[in-house]
Amino acid sequence: MKKSTQTTILQALVFIITVFGTSCKKTDREPVQETRKTSTAPSESKALAAKPKKVLFIGIDGCIWRAITATNAPTLKTLMNQSYSNTTIMAQTPTWSSNGWAALFTGVGVAKHKATSNSFSGSDFVNYPSFFRQIKTNLPALRTVSVVNWAPIHDYIIASQDVTVKATLTTDAAIETRIIQEVTTNNSDVTFCYFHDVDKAGHASTFRTSSAQYMQAVKTTDGRVGRVLAAVKGRSAYANEDWLIVVSTDHGGDASHGGSSDLERNTFVILNNSTIAPRSAGGSQLPYTVPPTILNFLKIPRPSYYDGQPLVTF
Ligand SMILES: [Zn+2]
Repeated sequence: MKKSTQTTILQALVFIITVFGTSCKKTDREPVQETRKTSTAPSESKALAAKPKKVLFIGIDGCIWRAITATNAPTLKTLMNQSYSNTTIMAQTPTWSSNGWAALFTGVGVAKHKATSNSFSGSDFVNYPSFFRQIKTNLPALRTVSVVNWAPIHDYIIASQDVTVKATLTTDAAIETRIIQEVTTNNSDVTFCYFHDVDKAGHASTFRTSSAQYMQAVKTTDGRVGRVLAAVKGRSAYANEDWLIVVSTDHGGDASHGGSSDLERNTFVILNNSTIAPRSAGGSQLPYTVPPTILNFLKIPRPSYYDGQPLVTF
């Protein structure tokens, strides 16, 4: 009797310490500016702690979110509805791909990475490496993969020593095939996949929902994303894995991009994980919030030089 009372008190103390310890930590990590229209905190992740964590980051160059919500892209639209989705992300100026992708990989703003032009002249990825550096340092056994068809991401932003596979291909079709291979037979753990055709169609037209050419490119890419996600869900081990799906873009557009208008700066982030309550978020966050979110999911410490806080904590 006495022994069981002691045990109960001990259990209660452990419980209190655990709960208070966890909530203090969480508060520290909460993004300052985040506004949630619905407010379910993603705290259920403890139940999935034993499952291997996997990340798939899908980058769609020059994709305006209005082209997704205009019912043109059923896969991405459904994913948005089932995820944390933020359509008020604002890329920094100038709204070139260099600047946008650098922020999405380094976790810092243009004042630090200095990738102000697509020549990458003066950029600093030595002091501000891609988030793959933190993954390689903290979880070196993970298979990390980047597959792109815009070479500068590999030439400048992602260092070869930080990833297991760095494949620069030529077409979105080739990207789709390779990424499906990586997430299925090759069992990649952290995978970045880049599609270029939407941006190309934007430049050839207007980056507007009124352009049939642009909307067709978004629809085609949506099909590719759908097949990649189906491949992930088709994994025999899928039910015993903990997947974070990230979808984002480097800049918006309006006729073109590079300038500082809201339409050129406005991007989006989708975060899908079984512990994330679906919600539409706002707050005009910056794209450099993506790397700390990915690192938080993988339980890797956020580098102190990062400018952003996680959009969601796990
Ligand atoms: Zn472009």
